[in-house]
Amino acid sequence: MSHSENCIFCKIAAGVIPSRKVHEDDELFAFHDINPWAPVHFLIIPKAHIPSMAQVGPEHAALLGRMMVLAPQLAKVQGCNPYPAGGFRIVTNTGSEGGQEVHHLHLHVMGGPRPWLRG
Ligand code: 5GP
Ligand code: ZN
Repeated sequence: MSHSENCIFCKIAAGVIPSRKVHEDDELFAFHDINPWAPVHFLIIPKAHIPSMAQVGPEHAALLGRMMVLAPQLAKVQGCNPYPAGGFRIVTNTGSEGGQEVHHLHLHVMGGPRPWLRG
């Protein structure tokens, strides 16, 4: 599994930097965003260092599928209200012009009653 020196999310996935963990399995790690925009706001990351969606290829299809399937399961556990009145938002910022600040692939999962800080 590849890791990148000085990558904050690699360090969070490895437990070197503490986080409020939501989920962990052999390939994925999820934790609460330190600066939430919504009442529920957590991030799902692969443990392997992939910089962004721009580096994703066919070899990552199963991994990305697992991330997307995990999102609604964790959203429910973390208190997002049921669809359709409730729901959640999944966001993946990619590159500087896409608003990405941490260059380790992550899904933002946001939900809970509005108003939200952003969005
Ligand atoms: P991006 O702009 O790259 O899509 O989002 C990065 C997110 O990571 C931001 O929402 C930011 O609050 C969150 N973040 C950055 N550093 C840390 C950290 O050390 N711990 C946690 N839990 N979240 C972080
Ligand atoms: Zn990383």
